[in-house]
Amino acid sequence: MNKDEIKQGLRTLGLKQGDIVLLHSSLASIGNVEGGAEAVVDAFLETLGTTGTLVVPVFGDLGILTVTVKGRPDAVVSDCPKGTVAAIGADAQKICADHWKADTVHGENSPYLKIAGLGGHICLLGVDQDRNTTMHSVEALLQLAYLNPVSDIVKTPEGEVQKTWKYYPGPHRDFIGLDKILRASGKMKTGKIGNAVTRLIKSQDLIEVLAGAGSLDQAFCLCDNPECADCVSQRAAIFRDAMKKEDFNLAASSALSGRYVPEIIDNLHRSGIGCVELDFIEGKPAHLMPSEKLQTAVREFAGKNISVSGLRMPGVPADMEKTLQLAKDCGIARLVLPLCADAAGLIGQAVAENIKLSFYNRGVSGEYAATIMKNLAERKISAGFTFSPAEFARCGEMPFLNTYRSGKFGKYMDQLDIEDGTFAGMPAVLARGNAEIKELVSILRCSSFSGYMTLAAGNRNHGNVAELAVEFRKLLDEI
Ligand SMILES: [Zn+2]
Repeated sequence: MNKDEIKQGLRTLGLKQGDIVLLHSSLASIGNVEGGAEAVVDAFLETLGTTGTLVVPVFGDLGILTVTVKGRPDAVVSDCPKGTVAAIGADAQKICADHWKADTVHGENSPYLKIAGLGGHICLLGVDQDRNTTMHSVEALLQLAYLNPVSDIVKTPEGEVQKTWKYYPGPHRDFIGLDKILRASGKMKTGKIGNAVTRLIKSQDLIEVLAGAGSLDQAFCLCDNPECADCVSQRAAIFRDAMKKEDFNLAASSALSGRYVPEIIDNLHRSGIGCVELDFIEGKPAHLMPSEKLQTAVREFAGKNISVSGLRMPGVPADMEKTLQLAKDCGIARLVLPLCADAAGLIGQAVAENIKLSFYNRGVSGEYAATIMKNLAERKISAGFTFSPAEFARCGEMPFLNTYRSGKFGKYMDQLDIEDGTFAGMPAVLARGNAEIKELVSILRCSSFSGYMTLAAGNRNHGNVAELAVEFRKLLDEI
């Protein structure tokens, strides 16, 4: 390749005098070039002319073309230590000015958005979308939940300034996977300069197309490799942020989340869940653990920002006094236990210890459960109800259509168990069994239900907490 052949290739792609181009490149991928990097840079500058502008990013591993542009005497370098660019041409000053003063490195008032605003192009010369810095502009504009602030020292004419920029991108993302969306949009041209596959797209078009995709799915940039710790934790941040906007509190069963406390904590973090219902730990009922051991567990959870929604028991404890003392010693304010005929007596004991009880249905009809709860209410005895739709389905009921409505459970409920199952008692994927879980979640959301929704409370769920969190998110998205 010589300079004229490269110029011809650029013109064929659609570049002309006066254009602005942000170039990401690999000289080696072109093949042999007469005159090397200098010839390629000249080909760009001559194609764009004196009214055009060539811009290159000058951070990270610099390619030889980038170094060549930055080294030219007429190059202007932006004054931001993050996401720095160098530019040559008519709009170089305008594009580079005051980069460090922008709120975000890649967003509003950064060179990247100025290029878009001026009608500029992005050219990927022999490199893929993984090198495309304007992807970070899209992330910053969408204010994605996994982005974090970043700080650095800026050398200004007035001296050194400590500056923090918002919405700075994280580690791994799957930008390569976004190429298909850009191809499908019809806005991106693809050709070859020598052997270098070359993509050209208007910066504004790229931002609009990908912002559309990102507004439908905050995780659109992330890979779905379950072994990618970066993307797993970025997905968790998105999920945590979405749950913060809900009125209900999302919790998960400890047995679903793991066997040992550190494993439970790790899996809850990976899933973006900040609350746990203690049912089983190390395979044993949590309420039968020695007090000191359970106290240590609760402290470990609290130390890792995980709160406890309650201590759940598979049966009514034989020694209620002892159980209440255990909860008190551990700082657990709520017990979840099966509904029984002596509910009033148990509440009487619990109130004395300042501990709240919530009763779940197990092996009882909706009618029976409603009668007990109504009777407590009439006697002004305050108790919570944990509605277990899968358990009602196991009793042959239609949990939402029939049980929830006719029992008027809404006014007692402080928890909905998030599990699904068939009438035959088999566990099922959420909204694929007979628990009418989707209907229940939807109706509770309509009334700003502020109790717990607890993943796999009751523990007959298959899968693990990460899978169920994804299922639950999908269910919420479908409502
Ligand atoms: Zn990844």
